[in-house]
Amino acid sequence: MAWTLFKQFRQSMGAKIRRLHADSLCRWVADVCSTPHALSHRPVLVIAPHQDDETLGCGGLIAMKRDLGVPVSVVFVTNGANSHSDRPDLGTITSAELIDTRQREAVNALEILGLPRSDIHFLNAPDGMLDELNGPDKQALIDRLASIMGHGRPLDVYVPHRKDRHKDHEAVWDLVHDALARADVEYELYQYLIWMPWRSPIFWKCAPADLRGAQCLEINGVLDRKIRAIDAYRSQHSVLPPGFLGRFYEPYEVFFRPHNGAANGHGRLSVQRC
Ligand SMILES: [Zn+2]
Repeated sequence: MAWTLFKQFRQSMGAKIRRLHADSLCRWVADVCSTPHALSHRPVLVIAPHQDDETLGCGGLIAMKRDLGVPVSVVFVTNGANSHSDRPDLGTITSAELIDTRQREAVNALEILGLPRSDIHFLNAPDGMLDELNGPDKQALIDRLASIMGHGRPLDVYVPHRKDRHKDHEAVWDLVHDALARADVEYELYQYLIWMPWRSPIFWKCAPADLRGAQCLEINGVLDRKIRAIDAYRSQHSVLPPGFLGRFYEPYEVFFRPHNGAANGHGRLSVQRC
């Protein structure tokens, strides 16, 4: 009994410290180390490894762009089937049920943010295994990403940070880099944070250059819609760490320009259409 109470106390304190750490670091970057993120009228493509990443990292941006009448598309790379794999205590739910649930939640969340179903793409790659893809499966995924990008129009592309401390998120960075090289598109690239502040104490494993080029977007005017969109992802609330979501209810979003890789964050890599 005493040991159980001690474990619960330790878990609770650990979650509080992590949340304080993540909230403080992001607030510090937003207040001290960033420049304003200007809203352009360029179409937006948000790449999300899982159903909820797009809303957590870019929900305010999506709503503000849609309010301006700017086209926004969201691509979900994985099917999301792996989110409950570490929580057998939450009861049995099949992979098919979870995939269906998460896709419905994504459509509902993005509808709140102003996106029609026609601008949402589900690529259904295996959840938790993106870094293991190779050969024809990996190439097919890159080709599908490139075909969505490759309409010859200028595009702002938002993708998880290349060091986001989640293997699917970091694998998506590489896939997007390869897809941009294949697509015929002029682009600006931005990175958003999901896991890095939670899993990287004082940005452990990040070089100063990884955090350079921070830009902050104030989202006060659409924060209520972002919160409702986050709430639409009910299946995820019980599997995310306690306190994890708190940072995403703040009235700002932070994006980073890449310092290398995928050129230096902008360019036109005109190669071949798929
Ligand atoms: Zn994710």
